[in-house]
Amino acid sequence: MRLTLFNDFSLGIVKDEVVYDITGVTDWDKNNVQSSLVTFMQIYPEIKDKINNFLTTAYTYTLSEVTLRPPVPNPTKIIAAPVNYSLHQDEMNEQFQNAEYTIENLGFFLKAPSSIIGPEETIKLPFPERRTDHEAELAFVVSKRAKDVLASEAHNYIFGYFGLMDIVVRGKEDRPWRKSFDTFTPIGPWIVTSDEVENPNELGVDLWVNEEKRQSANTKDLIYDCYKFFEEASSVMTLEPGDIVTTGTPDGVGPITKGDQVCLKIERVGEFKVYVDYKGKEK
Ligand code: MN
Repeated sequence: MRLTLFNDFSLGIVKDEVVYDITGVTDWDKNNVQSSLVTFMQIYPEIKDKINNFLTTAYTYTLSEVTLRPPVPNPTKIIAAPVNYSLHQDEMNEQFQNAEYTIENLGFFLKAPSSIIGPEETIKLPFPERRTDHEAELAFVVSKRAKDVLASEAHNYIFGYFGLMDIVVRGKEDRPWRKSFDTFTPIGPWIVTSDEVENPNELGVDLWVNEEKRQSANTKDLIYDCYKFFEEASSVMTLEPGDIVTTGTPDGVGPITKGDQVCLKIERVGEFKVYVDYKGKEK
């Protein structure tokens, strides 16, 4: 299922180019969207049939007439992988002499949940004079509390997948600072539930800036795949339902600037775009 949050944070299912409003299928509280989502994920296996029946009478919209919201609006944390594709490792070493910055040597880091935005929103660059890069990533949302979960069991704890742009100011500051400015975590276009993705460790990931394709990779080349990274993350901290884990970027990262349109496409998941502007007054 493709689960979307849209318009006033209504809950919807996307099929082809149609959005079915299923807000009424559960006790969905538009003022407490994240906790409603967590509850929904818990009961999803039991209400799947109910949802399918509901679709026949649900109010519908065409996809183009709704505003898609970030599909996971306010997790307790965003866990992010540092260099996790070998080609990206090579490029970081060439440009920034970062060869040792892998999960094995560096562990992982957190991004501020307040940096999340949704499709068609705008990345606001805080420093027009500093290089700020796009990173195309496959991310997933945790379905239930997890601690010390083995890779072989991780699939039981992942509700679904979506695309994530890990925006970063290059420089010497710590990663959480350089990657947590407001608007620095665009996610979308919706959550595709795990059953529909089948194998998350074999998905195409492509990113365009305007007409130029900058990144093109496949998650089969992840150094720590989704499940192994889940094991690593849950060995350190308890993963709460609704938390986001993002798996790291392949090679091809590059700068973005005011006026750019950045489009991320994940195979079997979907695509979305965001805009780029300077923060605050025009410069
Ligand atoms: Mn990243």
